[in-house]
Amino acid sequence: MKYQNTLSFAQTLDEADPLHGWRKEFYFPQHKGANALYFTGNSLGLQPKRARVYVEEEMQKWEEFAVEGHFLPKKNPWLKFHEASKPSLAGVLGALPLEVVAMNNLTVNLHLLMVSFYQPTAQRFKIICEAGAFPSDQYMFESQFKFHGLDPEEALIEVAPRDGENTLRTEDIIETIEKHGKELTLVLFGGVQYYTGQWFDMESITQAGHKVGAYVGFDLAHAAGNVPVQLHDWDVDFATWCSYKYLNSGPGNVSGIFVHERHAHNDSLPRFAGWWGHNEKERFLMKKGFQPMPGADGWQLSNGNIISTAAHLASLEIFDEVGMPAIREKSLQLTGYLEFIIQELSGDRGLFEIITPSDPSQRGAQLSIFFHKNGKSLFDHLIANGVIGDWREPNVIRIAPAPLYNSFEDVYQFGQILSEAIKQQG
Ligand SMILES: *Cc1c(COP(=O)(O)O)cnc(C)c1O
Repeated sequence: MKYQNTLSFAQTLDEADPLHGWRKEFYFPQHKGANALYFTGNSLGLQPKRARVYVEEEMQKWEEFAVEGHFLPKKNPWLKFHEASKPSLAGVLGALPLEVVAMNNLTVNLHLLMVSFYQPTAQRFKIICEAGAFPSDQYMFESQFKFHGLDPEEALIEVAPRDGENTLRTEDIIETIEKHGKELTLVLFGGVQYYTGQWFDMESITQAGHKVGAYVGFDLAHAAGNVPVQLHDWDVDFATWCSYKYLNSGPGNVSGIFVHERHAHNDSLPRFAGWWGHNEKERFLMKKGFQPMPGADGWQLSNGNIISTAAHLASLEIFDEVGMPAIREKSLQLTGYLEFIIQELSGDRGLFEIITPSDPSQRGAQLSIFFHKNGKSLFDHLIANGVIGDWREPNVIRIAPAPLYNSFEDVYQFGQILSEAIKQQG
């Protein structure tokens, strides 16, 4: 599409947008009496208005039934609560309901999945990940290696961009996997890289990992609800994500895991166990001898946090109603429009550049803008004028228009405010 940097053009796109009405389903932070321009759905998604209704329902059950809330309510009795999100999560992640479950928080789940999928031997002990992974993931790796008595310097292979480039080439990832193949036991990558916004070629990475006999897993913190992943068909071994970024489920809310169907009945995979992962027919017999539930459910440890998971269910209902294909279709347009606006402003002044891939199939909603100078003062101007974006040291502003609630006009207005900031300080 040929874009224009005008208000009327942005408004025309909004009128033609079948998802435009969903904006009204969310609460926006306010700036001077109007909705702020919110572009941080990659960090904390906005609150769906129906979330409070769902949370209130659980408060009501607690009030009315107390412990019998596990059995008596017709809708989502707590004993079965972890099942309620499975069909929606399956839709968002391209999985079978058997393969997914909502539980714990993301970093906790990474550790639990490492118990099953990282079993180093003297010969095979290496893990490949992307350089500059999110700090929590780096600490997770470091502590896992130390736990196994291994040297992180030796055991972790980080694939970095080539000199002068910002993002990874798939061919370099695959070459690294092949090079270390004999010593490699796990490939664990981000799905969408949190800093650059690059969506990795998950299917090719998975194939390459399997070819050398390694497991392949993904941290989908920035991918879940953002890009249309197909975890089952791509044959990914395992994945985990958080629900508070693009999945709009509220601060620190429940994570989820995916374990491929092919591991669903493999009771010999090592794992840490708890009663909620035990064969549900015998869960209350309180007997010795752990028998895992089939599929992802067998990785659960504890009974779930009902009240906060209710907000997750409210948000997932929106994903069910809209569907990932429609979300992705709008996202491609919306982020394409943002890219056009940013490039117009940068012009040939070389003030800044987008480090996110320009190929839409290699990115989701987010664009990361690298400022050659004045980044922080331009960012402060944006914040003072009601643009909520995200600053990452040393020089990057991340802007992520979320297709469920951002409009083309939001993107146009962002451009106006950035342009004003550049005139004042650029
Ligand atoms: C957001 C994010 C996390 C956060 O981890 P929590 O355990 O939810 O606090 C971890 N890893 C990545 C890649 C992230 O983007």
